[in-house]
Amino acid sequence: MSAARPPDPGRTRTCPHCKSTILESADVCPACHHHLRFGADRRSASAPTRSAFRVEGVIANQEQSSVWEYTVVVALLDAQGAEIAREVVHVGALAPSESRKCVVSVDVRPVAVATNDRHFAKSTLGR
Ligand SMILES: [Zn+2]
Repeated sequence: MSAARPPDPGRTRTCPHCKSTILESADVCPACHHHLRFGADRRSASAPTRSAFRVEGVIANQEQSSVWEYTVVVALLDAQGAEIAREVVHVGALAPSESRKCVVSVDVRPVAVATNDRHFAKSTLGR
């Protein structure tokens, strides 16, 4: 019925459920996990999503006499070390004996683009 648009890697949109900025190609919002109506027809044209890495760690306040304040920061750097993005994901406090698990993951999905499409390389690097 509708003509398929060519892939535009890195293009974003707003999740209608949680208002997070997500990839336009996402079938499921990575923030709120709601299924999105877009993308199902496009997914078949690209490779499946895979995990580039996943890191887990636990912060545990083992002191009995103090509360720990904490700040969770995620930063993204380019190959030269220049910061592309930095976000404070959450702040809070841990009472004695409380803990939190922190999980950071990066998923990737190869998207076929025309080899002469230089617009892609320049337009998506800074995102
Ligand atoms: Zn969402």
